[in-house]
Amino acid sequence: MSMQESHDGTWAVCDGGGYEGHPRVFLDTSKSGVTVCPYCSKQVAVTEGKE
Ligand SMILES: [Zn+2]
Repeated sequence: MSMQESHDGTWAVCDGGGYEGHPRVFLDTSKSGVTVCPYCSKQVAVTEGKE
């Protein structure tokens, strides 16, 4: 059975990347694996396997 979804594989994290950053947000990328951050308009992808 593999009905369970791993959140690790469907969420991306963006914090703006340094300086001109913003509060860390978790973005749902379950649709396409990629999404656009509402804060900085950066395209972020799933960060699978990262700590
Ligand atoms: Zn961002």
